[in-house]
Amino acid sequence: MTAAPASADAIRLDSLRKQFGSTTVLHDIHLRAARGRFVVLLGPSGCGKSTLLRVIAGLERADGGRVVLDGRDVAELPPAARGLSMVFQSYALFPHLDVAENIVFGLRARRVAAAEREARLARAASLLGLEKLLKRRPSQLSGGQQQRVALARAIVAEAPICLMDEPLSNLDAKLRGEMRREIRALQQRLGLTMVYVTHDQAEAMSMADQVVLMRDGHIEQDATPAEIYARPASAFVASFIGTPP
Ligand code: ADP
Ligand code: MG
Repeated sequence: MTAAPASADAIRLDSLRKQFGSTTVLHDIHLRAARGRFVVLLGPSGCGKSTLLRVIAGLERADGGRVVLDGRDVAELPPAARGLSMVFQSYALFPHLDVAENIVFGLRARRVAAAEREARLARAASLLGLEKLLKRRPSQLSGGQQQRVALARAIVAEAPICLMDEPLSNLDAKLRGEMRREIRALQQRLGLTMVYVTHDQAEAMSMADQVVLMRDGHIEQDATPAEIYARPASAFVASFIGTPP
């Protein structure tokens, strides 16, 4: 038996291309995300952030190029072996299931044993302060609590890579600030490689190790927040992140 090839990059995108009909929405995307990095995909609405995330997740098929996760081409991996979890903007909780059932739903589907499900549920609930809410339905929760359930559901998968698509956009400004810190702390504590989508430059700059600024389906700049502030690659970048001209 041979071990999976070692690679410093949790995610590598080579010449990725995606079109819908005759419209190309991702042009020749190259990207590397080192293991344990917090990568933010930033850019205006319609620039292709969600599409790129969905291609990484294998929810959309690329029309060209490759997605390589931990050295392995995603096209050759069954979904359960990709090592990914995902949090959506809408949270996508099941309204008819209680919090505990929502959190372990994916584990049940993957036939994780009951004792192991219970153990992971307890850990995630404690990490996110959900212990007293486990019997409630999503409709009996605030927006912030629903968000925590969505995060808990991603965490119990114990996948090394987590993808989040504008997870805070339905929350008010105060809660958004709290949840930014909470997500960042969680990512560090669990050592996750994160790809986090937002159109909010303040959110991107405050959370990211690496900011990937997109425009019209291509990458305008890929750098640390400090580098982007100091040396924006174009007038578009400077104006989008609001650096002085
Ligand atoms: P963002 O997440 O940055 O707002 P999207 O990835 O959602 O951008 O969309 C990028 C472009 O692709 C947009 O022009 C959008 O209209 C188009 N698009 C996204 N999904 C589809 C789809 N399923 N069919 C056709 N066009 C799509
Ligand atoms: Mg989007």
